[in-house]
Amino acid sequence: MNIETPRKQLDLSSAIAEGDIRVLLMVLVHMTGDLGWLEPPYTPKRDVRLIPDPRAGLPEAIQDQIRAAVLKLFANGEPEPAITDPGDELMLRMMRAGLGENVAPEYAPLMREEMGFIPRDARWKTTPPAEPLQKDHVLIVGAGVCAIALGVGLGRLGIPYTIVEKNAELGGTWYINRYPGCGVDTPNHSYSFSFGARNQWSRYFAQREELLDYLKKVALEHDVRSHIRFNTKLTSSQWDETERRWISTLQTGHGTETLQSAVLVSAIGQLNDPSRAHFKGEEDFQGQILHTALWSEDIKLEGKRVAVIGTGATAMQLVPSIADRVSSVTVYQRSAQWAPARHRDFRARLVGERYCGRGSSRGRARTARCGRDARSAWRAGAATSLRPAYVNARSVSHPDTRRSPPHRRRRPAGARSRSIRY
Ligand SMILES: Cc1cc2nc3c(=O)[nH]c(=O)nc-3n(C[C@H](O)[C@H](O)[C@H](O)COP(=O)(O)OP(=O)(O)OC[C@H]3O[C@@H](n4cnc5c(N)ncnc54)[C@H](O)[C@@H]3O)c2cc1C
Repeated sequence: MNIETPRKQLDLSSAIAEGDIRVLLMVLVHMTGDLGWLEPPYTPKRDVRLIPDPRAGLPEAIQDQIRAAVLKLFANGEPEPAITDPGDELMLRMMRAGLGENVAPEYAPLMREEMGFIPRDARWKTTPPAEPLQKDHVLIVGAGVCAIALGVGLGRLGIPYTIVEKNAELGGTWYINRYPGCGVDTPNHSYSFSFGARNQWSRYFAQREELLDYLKKVALEHDVRSHIRFNTKLTSSQWDETERRWISTLQTGHGTETLQSAVLVSAIGQLNDPSRAHFKGEEDFQGQILHTALWSEDIKLEGKRVAVIGTGATAMQLVPSIADRVSSVTVYQRSAQWAPARHRDFRARLVGERYCGRGSSRGRARTARCGRDARSAWRAGAATSLRPAYVNARSVSHPDTRRSPPHRRRRPAGARSRSIRY
């Protein structure tokens, strides 16, 4: 992804004219409560492509009717939504109608939470006294998006925590990956934290620098950064049944430490351990072999003949980004690509989010009530969100060769070992 035209400022009618019919229909249901919009002749055709046709397979006259109804809805400013929470039953009906397929019932509560109709945040029923909470120290391993989300949640609950990160900076995936064109392939209105201020993304699919800046900003604003110990790698951890504590060994720039905690969370991700493709005769290959996750600024491709193995999102970003400066680029494909050609202007997809209650302070306040994430998730059907995904603790080799991390350096003279207990 990541190739798109610059976004223009649109007025309401031209934005609605370009909007995805599925989004507009669900905006109508949400704002008016009129369930007639879920029935024929307004039912969109199923379209499973990554970027579905915004006309949703409806005749032009019906599309015009839908667009006119949305325009009328906002003629006198932003109306209050008729539906504050659709509940599981209506949510499912809306999802099925919007996507034109038989969505399984378990997605309804998930999407209500994703879209902010029901609260997601953990809250104390009765706030416990601070002192016993101090004994429940949480050690989080890794400082990527999951750790940041968890840190924000723990901070709100007043639960003490420490994040250890083997790199010199937070961001995980978005710190480590630096290949040309690197960015999300999930639209940023869903690849954003559900808490905090809405980020003004400059693109529909933001690139690595912007994502990293966003993560740094969130970590600072929510006081997560001060809990992170950089250049600190967890090398082992054991549960002590008697003490009821995790005893973790940390490798730092100054030596080894043990840290005791009541809870240990692995937030080490799963895509930061690159696996290089092997091929017959590779030992005879005279050129340079690279993995995108190990990219560095020293890599010069100008005028070279380049072969790219793989056709996933990374290749989709890399190949157009280097095509102009190499003498040739050949893509090796084992299985067919699943994404369509990019020829549309993605601005159109922002209509739903913009006119579902964002953009003005009044709009923002209202959105908080009607569901912050209600916006264009209508169209997505199953939005990807940033939520803690705890994976099993495992030892991961460090892919960041640009700067040798401290645990790879030799222990400096006078290195010491210390122990911390929470
Ligand atoms: C190029 C690329 C593009 C992607 N695009 C998308 C997308 O568009 N949409 C999407 O949903 N997902 C995407 N992903 C997946 C992405 O990895 C996740 O969205 C998310 O960033 C993962 O965050 P995380 O916190 O789980 O892990 P990571 O970002 O991997 O962070 C884990 C952190 O743990 C640290 N760590 C590991 N082991 C240790 C240890 N022993 N001690 C201390 N620290 C340790 C690592 O250094 C790292 O900083 C993409 C991934 C890549 C590689």
